[in-house]
Amino acid sequence: MDCLFCKIIAGEIPSTKVYEDEFVYAFNDIAPQAPIHVVIVPKEHLQSANDINEENCALIGKIFNAASKIAKELGISENGYRIVNNCGADGGQTVGHIHFHMLGGRSLAWPPG
Ligand code: AMP
Ligand code: ZN
Repeated sequence: MDCLFCKIIAGEIPSTKVYEDEFVYAFNDIAPQAPIHVVIVPKEHLQSANDINEENCALIGKIFNAASKIAKELGISENGYRIVNNCGADGGQTVGHIHFHMLGGRSLAWPPG
């Protein structure tokens, strides 16, 4: 499949791995928007949040379980962080493999732009 994140998961495109388990892969974003910017993806290819359904929604729990571990590992769990999913054109999604941004290491403004 011609998918950037599937290739990263398969190791065909290099990435800086932060976390991996049976269901989830996480790596440093190539263009970090905060001191900590990790991209967390399910190994299963889903295009976007629109593809979450009754059958596969447990995968999203796996993502957040991984996020909780990563936050502790990277030392941002106490100060806090933000997890963002961009969905579709208006959401700002540029890679068509569902992913969650973990941003931390600085105070983040709200609302987003
Ligand atoms: P989004 O704009 O929400 O679709 O997020 C895609 C993210 O993937 C962006 O933050 C990019 O900087 C990041 N990205 C694109 N290519 C790579 C890559 N080869 N390695 C790591 N992160 C990447
Ligand atoms: Zn993919």
